[in-house]
Amino acid sequence: MKAYKKKTASIQSHYDWSFTAEARVRFQHIKDNTYTVNYDANSFSVDFPFSDQASVHNIASCITTLLALGIDTAYIQDKITQLYRVEMRLQVKNGLQQCTLIDDSYSSDYQSLKIALDFLEQQKTHPQKTVILSDILQSGFSDEILYQKVGTLLQNNNINRIIGIGPNISFYLKHLQHFEGFHSTLDFLNHFDLKKFKDETILIKGARSYAFEQIVSELEEKTHETVLEINLNAISHNFNFYKSKLLPETKTMVMVKAFGYGNGSYEIAKLLAFHKVDYLGVAFADEGVALRKSGIKSAIIVMNPENSAFSTMISYQLEPEIYSLPELKTFLTEAKKHSLYEYPIHIKLNTGMNRLGFNDTHFEELIAILESTNSVKVASIFSHLATSDMPEERKFTLQQIKLFQKWSSYLTDQLRIKPIRHILNTSGIFNFPEYQMEMVRLGIGLYGVGNSEQEMKNCKMSLL
Ligand SMILES: *Cc1c(COP(=O)(O)O)cnc(C)c1O
Repeated sequence: MKAYKKKTASIQSHYDWSFTAEARVRFQHIKDNTYTVNYDANSFSVDFPFSDQASVHNIASCITTLLALGIDTAYIQDKITQLYRVEMRLQVKNGLQQCTLIDDSYSSDYQSLKIALDFLEQQKTHPQKTVILSDILQSGFSDEILYQKVGTLLQNNNINRIIGIGPNISFYLKHLQHFEGFHSTLDFLNHFDLKKFKDETILIKGARSYAFEQIVSELEEKTHETVLEINLNAISHNFNFYKSKLLPETKTMVMVKAFGYGNGSYEIAKLLAFHKVDYLGVAFADEGVALRKSGIKSAIIVMNPENSAFSTMISYQLEPEIYSLPELKTFLTEAKKHSLYEYPIHIKLNTGMNRLGFNDTHFEELIAILESTNSVKVASIFSHLATSDMPEERKFTLQQIKLFQKWSSYLTDQLRIKPIRHILNTSGIFNFPEYQMEMVRLGIGLYGVGNSEQEMKNCKMSLL
């Protein structure tokens, strides 16, 4: 690594990027694949080798990281243009009922479908072949032409059973022989009897957002059982410790996303219901559905609701986080279909985390929309702190909190509503309890995996 010079002198620890808003590293689209990068007082241009949104965002994160590490801009310009796509990540696994699985659950584009079908053809273990395929993203063709090509490809490969998951594929391929369509991954898992798969090779190929790893996990042979022991007493202890930092009337929401940070969400959710938490937070709709199916009655917020899951969420009384105008509009359409009245939603503001959320440029339209409907009701307004665990970023955290106070007051004044306001996560509760407002969101701290030694002195590990 001689090709670049490292500037160690002035590394500051907080870096963020944006294509639209204020940020330390700002990307400006010039033309085609050319972007200008504005960073502190510097500015340079870079040619991005890809144009799909996920790749563009990945490259932005990558450039920001390189800048944070003090890498020369000339070196960055040179190396970024040389990036190439990771071709395939096909994995062969043993499935239940003597099936063989080809797990390609991370990508879906036309080119890689061809490669995967070739690979399927080469697997001679079973004569019977099944393909489970999601909607195809990143193709460059119109949907009609794309699915025509996909249909031909599947037929030429003599696939015995084709399962399409997603609104587009189930629409365009519905007349294909041996085809069965489902609207979503959840829809498939709930309605398809997996025991029908027997002695066959199954190619599982889906766009990232379809989370096909859930299908893989259902179909994979379980060679050994892993036993996870969780100390529920430690969880109660940790919960009470963070509670002790709060006023008695402050509400709590507990994040059990990623299946309770790997701790098994049902047992924890039950314990939390006993402790009377006000809300549970999950990352995806299916996690909320699983909790409902196991009998959890608490209010549940889904933090990353996919549009395709709105209908399911409504059926299971799961409340969406709303982070953008398009998402709000889609949810309202669904809400009207279900004749909802004052269905609770949770508005997320972007005060500096720069992942998702509204900022003040959206407020006018946001207010107009909310004033014109009674299908939904703003149950809460919140934001997420990026660096509440970093003492050296105290100023930045306070800046986020102040902005949240200003923006949330503006919205509540304009809309004449009094929703719950919340911004503190685990370390926020520990370091900034004076900003607990009406509710806090406890995550990692519940499991005794905290962010500072100070915090951890008071907590117990939940994993035995
Ligand atoms: C995960 C998450 C939390 C919890 O954060 P911790 O640092 O684990 O306490 C809070 N709010 C949101 C929106 C989250 O996604």
